[in-house]
Amino acid sequence: MSRYVIDLPEQPFLPVEGSDAVFPIRRIYCIGRNYAAHTIEMGGDPDREDPFFFQKNAQNADISGEFPYPPESSDVHHEVEMVVALKSGAANIRVDDALEHVYGYGLGIDMTRRDLQSVAKEQRRPWEPGKAFERSAPMSGIIPASRIGHPDRGRISLSINGDLRQEGDLGQMIWKVPEMISYLSRFYDIAAGDIIMSGTPSGVGPVSRGDDIKADLEGVTSLTVKVI
Ligand code: MN
Repeated sequence: MSRYVIDLPEQPFLPVEGSDAVFPIRRIYCIGRNYAAHTIEMGGDPDREDPFFFQKNAQNADISGEFPYPPESSDVHHEVEMVVALKSGAANIRVDDALEHVYGYGLGIDMTRRDLQSVAKEQRRPWEPGKAFERSAPMSGIIPASRIGHPDRGRISLSINGDLRQEGDLGQMIWKVPEMISYLSRFYDIAAGDIIMSGTPSGVGPVSRGDDIKADLEGVTSLTVKVI
């Protein structure tokens, strides 16, 4: 008989593309302002800011291909981001060793209740209501690094109803994947199952019910999401 007094909550996961296997999600770390053009559009200074991270809940990841417009907001923004999935971790990982911990890569959208985030910024409160809400992280499957290597260049883009809204290149990331892993490992016990959303290029903007979102990461994968 189980010692748990309630049923175990479901383990969130992402499919591994091209197989029946799945990647279990432990934590989701998201970096803020990792592309200079997006930093500027959000009112920041790309030259002087240290990296900063926030978290979404593992349960916020969503692979349904549908994004229900969330409650308590009238300004939900899309942020297309490369997803990095870790197969192991450690404390104080050296930059040169960091990629050894990567299982694979995918594509995600850091959906943001921008109005709630803006209030939080003004009032110096936490960002969770703006960032870590139900189904706030639509994601693709994961493609193993053993198949595609470790992409550090490549076009990342998002269009809505066929109109290009966001476009950038992984090479424009201020903090590279090994640096993000190394930095995070100074503050947290990084471990297998952790995911990093690696920041969004410029062009973030609102989504509306009925929108067809298409995101693409050159050489990795693509993602389609319907806003309902
Ligand atoms: Mn983001």
